[in-house]
Amino acid sequence: MKQYLKHHEWEIIEERFDPHFNRISESIFSLGNGRMGQRANFEEHYSGDTHQGTYVAGVYYPDKTRVGWWKNGYPEYFAKVLNAPSWIGIDVKIDQQQFDLAKCTVTDFVRTLDMKRGTLHRSFTATLGDGKKVKISAHRFCSMADGEVGAIRYAITPVNFSAAASIRLSIDADVVNKDSNYDEKFWDEVYKESQLGYAVITAKTKKTDFHVCTSIEYELEEAGKRLRGKVFTNIKSKYVDNMVEVDLKEGIELVVYKYAAVLSSENHPKDALVKVSHKKLDEVAKIGFDQLLKAHESVWKEIWEKCDITIEGDIAAQQGIRFNIFQLMQTYTGADERLNIGPKGFTGEKYGGSTYWDTEAYCLPFYLSTSDPQVARNLLVYRHKHLQRAIENAAKLGFTDGAALYPMVTMNGEECHNEWEITFEEIHRNGAIAFAIYEYIRYTGDEKYLTEFGLEVLIGISRFWSQRITFSEAKKQYVMLGVTGPNEYENNVNNNWYTSYIACWTMEYAQKALDFVRKDDHAKFSALMANLNFSEFQETTRWAEIRGNMYLGEDKQLGIFLQQDGFLDKEIVPVRNLRPQDRPLNQKWSWDRILRSCYIKQADVLQGLYLFDDRFDNETIKRNFDFYEPLTVHESSLSPCVHVILASKIGYKEKAYEMYLRTSRLDLDDYNNDTEDGCHITSMAGTWMSVVKGFGGMRVKDDVLHFSPYIPDHWESYSFRIDFRGRVIKVRALKEKTELVLESGEPIEIMLNGKMVKL
Ligand code: BGC
Repeated sequence: MKQYLKHHEWEIIEERFDPHFNRISESIFSLGNGRMGQRANFEEHYSGDTHQGTYVAGVYYPDKTRVGWWKNGYPEYFAKVLNAPSWIGIDVKIDQQQFDLAKCTVTDFVRTLDMKRGTLHRSFTATLGDGKKVKISAHRFCSMADGEVGAIRYAITPVNFSAAASIRLSIDADVVNKDSNYDEKFWDEVYKESQLGYAVITAKTKKTDFHVCTSIEYELEEAGKRLRGKVFTNIKSKYVDNMVEVDLKEGIELVVYKYAAVLSSENHPKDALVKVSHKKLDEVAKIGFDQLLKAHESVWKEIWEKCDITIEGDIAAQQGIRFNIFQLMQTYTGADERLNIGPKGFTGEKYGGSTYWDTEAYCLPFYLSTSDPQVARNLLVYRHKHLQRAIENAAKLGFTDGAALYPMVTMNGEECHNEWEITFEEIHRNGAIAFAIYEYIRYTGDEKYLTEFGLEVLIGISRFWSQRITFSEAKKQYVMLGVTGPNEYENNVNNNWYTSYIACWTMEYAQKALDFVRKDDHAKFSALMANLNFSEFQETTRWAEIRGNMYLGEDKQLGIFLQQDGFLDKEIVPVRNLRPQDRPLNQKWSWDRILRSCYIKQADVLQGLYLFDDRFDNETIKRNFDFYEPLTVHESSLSPCVHVILASKIGYKEKAYEMYLRTSRLDLDDYNNDTEDGCHITSMAGTWMSVVKGFGGMRVKDDVLHFSPYIPDHWESYSFRIDFRGRVIKVRALKEKTELVLESGEPIEIMLNGKMVKL
């Protein structure tokens, strides 16, 4: 855990330049706008430790999987979002000396992420080897108003000298992925050009043939007046720049405005990219930095009006929740249904920027309550579009007759995981995709979704479960063998309670969906049945038989569900007895030791109790929580939020608060010692859920919205807004009361602390 960032309600502030924390800060201070993003790398050359990262949504590369011993069923490739051409470069030489923070003395360093406005600032004074002092103030953003545009204002003030300087404004397409499996470079250049005041590179990805066109224009200003300087154009392999020679004058600020347009062939015809980007860039340069910034800020203003959560009385918690909401909204705006939410967003490369079960299990509720219902629907339709691929994925593993297994990791519906040995048996992902359909309908009331898309997906998934589950003669019950639950610190176990439970639930829900669609639209129902070759009686009879006689491990004496067969044979020693130097286990212990231990990476049985909390009484939840939480190391970012919600439900307020800080400040305080790889974007939606579902107790039951808010002791109040079936409702919880305000929409009845109130 590291605590080097200053607490502030709206800003993330780093007040000292410590190269040891640079990679962590590069992740935390990342910028994005749903279409593109970048780590908070310096504009000028930096020879110190850094991970340079620029990313473009939806542009990926199928990197050949790396395994020791190839086995049937391995995915061919690991799809990764690509480190894309970088447009931020503003390289400065003063009197021929390369300006480089690793090689000069840095004072008054402040790096700020302004979450209200969506901008990154950096200011400092650098003393060069020969005593020259220079002040820099850099300011940049990726426009939320136009996802293809970015801009930088970079101001240089010589403090104690006048000298000749050169400023290089570049585009660098010679970039590599840190996680490239075979140290391969993934881009080929297609076109490049550098002329006075303008440069462009179009690069295309190998194999996938995505084209990305990155172009820049710039302006220089001295004492408020346009400055031209002497310009040299430069073209190298996968690189273009303009170098401008200027005279820096003591005490006079020289400002560089750099504008970038980043266009991809996902949104424009390949042969039009350069032309369109040039036109766009001309317009952008005409609009100018200040107006572009204004438009960008006003989008953020609107976002914050909808999504903000305020917390009074606890700045660390306030900063944490805003950071989470900010990063989520930078990653996925819902504007494009082809996109999804990578676990690291635009902040790093780990997990490849692909889609995981994280989207359905964690992100969906956030978008359901804070965005237009179409956004959440898009997330579901994304999986419907991948149904055929899910059927092919299952077929590759030997399943038949339309059984669908959704991938653990995907870009286009195909399974593509590098960590296949760990995750191929994490078939619980299928359950989360089914549950998301239920959750979407429960929240929006849009039952028609079942007729349009949902039923087909539910049938595919149920077919998979009914083939994957087998009958044990010994137990005289149905069992599910060889699975990995959400807790990845156990692989290939039998009868993981969570997976078996959600499998049975899916088949139950699929039955209800069948009944609904039959009534809703008989013609469509018949066509679907024929199309899917669905033998209703035969298939649903088996589903019912499995559900009625499924083995779900339980220990009656302890009153708990068994995470898997044999869990109680382990040596049970609570996490609090572990030595601090052994944490995090995944960085300190051998894999063998982890697998044998009783330590749980993330909610597993508790994940099930969270999803299905209305089916279990508080005593059952408590007993399971008391048993499993002390064994949980929360080394997945997805873990603490589930614990906040359950702890809140059973009245464990201190635990809930401890877990809340952990989820909301996971990256800011680098709890798991891995923020340098990127921020944990998908779990950030879990932080939002921690407040709304945890402290606020929000649930939807039988079309009625419920709240049962309480306040963590350290807080004076908190408030959030949710969009529910056409109404915007503001909830403000104070110590002595809760205020509910219907800000827009028709009157509505709501259950508050067990009592119906009309708004
Ligand atoms: C978790 C998975 C999750 C993945 C991506 C892993 O550490 O164990 O449940 O899907 O991260 O967030």
